[in-house]
Amino acid sequence: MKKIVIAIDGYSSCGKSTLAKGLAAALGYAYIDSGAMYRAVTLYLLRHNIDPADEEAVAGALPYITIHFENIGLGNHTFLNGEDVEADIRQMDVSENVSQVSIISAVRRAMVKQQKALGRRKSIVMDGRDIGTVVFPEAELKIFLTADPEVRAQRRYKELTEKGVEVAIEAVRRNLAERDRIDSTRMDSPLRQAEDAIVLDNTNLTPDEQLEKAIALAEAAILQPAD
Ligand code: C5P
Repeated sequence: MKKIVIAIDGYSSCGKSTLAKGLAAALGYAYIDSGAMYRAVTLYLLRHNIDPADEEAVAGALPYITIHFENIGLGNHTFLNGEDVEADIRQMDVSENVSQVSIISAVRRAMVKQQKALGRRKSIVMDGRDIGTVVFPEAELKIFLTADPEVRAQRRYKELTEKGVEVAIEAVRRNLAERDRIDSTRMDSPLRQAEDAIVLDNTNLTPDEQLEKAIALAEAAILQPAD
């Protein structure tokens, strides 16, 4: 069977990772959370007191940062220099700084290089902001996820509080809006819908319903003869 690359992009907390994980499991593909990589870089900077706005200092730190993923139980964990940082990268201090870090071209170049290498053998689902436009412009299937901003904030709030993160809903709303603003207006690789992406609005869909739609799209893309 033909192996494909599936790119899922969209605004913050649209349910991209839920969809990407489900799709990867259904197809027997690898799942890569590209946002986790930008979060791991941000965590490193915060731990080393490096100002995320200081481009030179951030670029200088990159050679000291190694990121890899491992499947642990049902989850895909992110490792920073050999340490499992899956919980730490989801904290609000990382969320509040990650979009600033992601503006920096040196950071993007390093992450995109690693992401492209991970997709070389195909059979991969990757989610992020620039996957269909920059990382895999030739992906056989591109999905652009959207959802109502208030629905996204409520989902994110629920997810964080269930993990034991203490946060106010208003702080979550502000963080999503601010990340969306920075991510879609930055100069290098801004978040935008690829021309050949299929838009999926999941405001009124359950995770199972959105997965069903995505599986149908993936099956159609797999059956499509290669050019
Ligand atoms: O996907 P997630 O919300 O965890 O991503 C965190 C942040 O990482 C985004 O808000 C964005 O600033 C950055 N990011 C990016 N490019 C990607 C994935 C994430 O700039 N491909």
